[in-house]
Amino acid sequence: MTERAGPLTPDRTEEDIAEPTLRPRHLDEYSGQERIKESLQISIEAAKRRGESLDHLLFHGPPGLGKTTLAMIVAAEMGVSIRITSGPAIERAGDLASLLTSLQPGDVLFIDEIHRLALAVEEVLYPAMEDYSVDLILGKGPKARDVRLKLNHFTLIGATTRYALLSQPLRDRFGSAYRLEFYDEAALSEIVRRSAAVLKCRIDDGGVTQVARRSRGTARVANRLLRRVRDYAEVRADGVVTADVANEALAQLEIDALGLDQMDRELLSKMAERFDGGPVGLDTLAAAISEESDTIMDVYEPFLLKLGFLHRTPRGRILTPTGYAHLGLDPATRGPQAALFDLNANDDTNGADDSNDSGDEPSE
Ligand code: ADP
Repeated sequence: MTERAGPLTPDRTEEDIAEPTLRPRHLDEYSGQERIKESLQISIEAAKRRGESLDHLLFHGPPGLGKTTLAMIVAAEMGVSIRITSGPAIERAGDLASLLTSLQPGDVLFIDEIHRLALAVEEVLYPAMEDYSVDLILGKGPKARDVRLKLNHFTLIGATTRYALLSQPLRDRFGSAYRLEFYDEAALSEIVRRSAAVLKCRIDDGGVTQVARRSRGTARVANRLLRRVRDYAEVRADGVVTADVANEALAQLEIDALGLDQMDRELLSKMAERFDGGPVGLDTLAAAISEESDTIMDVYEPFLLKLGFLHRTPRGRILTPTGYAHLGLDPATRGPQAALFDLNANDDTNGADDSNDSGDEPSE
């Protein structure tokens, strides 16, 4: 999604793919998202008792919150295989049709970024989801004929960072849609502890808290920061991640007390300095910080919205008084005052709370 995947960008990198061991395999190893886990547990149990496949599921929310992991866990708990693909990877209707016909009874088909499916491909999904069938056209020209193929019953799990971009017919065909929330500090601490044990990284409670607090409510970021502080602890300290070691490592990465990185701060300060706090359109803002609009919307903005630093309005983004305060600015004093921007303002605020603006709304 972004080319400058830093330690805080929650999208997937080679590193995550290379270390699949960090992924929890069962529901009881999956921290947080309690409401979703409980509901899934019931659905899985009921489907297993009836000997049926699970209803189609949709997981939505910002990247790195555990949508793929949850899909893999659902398949494992159901005792079935999972096929993993993504919206942009399925180019033609025929590709999806052959994928569907290869599924065994009960299998899970996971489509990441399902909002990016081509319309012609999406249309193949409708009868597949509803009636477990695909309509194929065999032959060409006047001899072409329609054939309806029966499929094995399967479970489609779709994941998206942009619920709003999903078409209504597709949304309607999911049995349940779950919105994943940013993790609170307790859940992130649990994730950090578990990952540290897997990575055989020595970390004390203070270290766990520091990493958890600065992970912008995101499991993938927590794992990534843990790897960074582990490296730092091995090279610069005696290998144990304490609060001090974590703080030093994170300061070196220019990650502040709330878990914001340089890019977040650039975005906020540009809003204050150049756009007088907004409203400013997404594309204008993207151009000002040389970033793609999609990356801002999927990666940076959801957490800034959650912190209450930004608001979305029909006329564009607005920097809130809390956002100004984080920059060390008073909203009443703009312009040249922005030079007073102080990185370390608001040092002890903890970013994890229960607000849940995940960036699903259409942009402007
Ligand atoms: P998404 O599909 O939403 O982008 P992933 O499922 O790929 O996110 O999760 C990112 C990483 O975070 C995974 O590799 C996994 O190790 C970790 N992770 C995600 N959710 C949890 C969780 N609830 N508990 C523990 N680890 C998690």
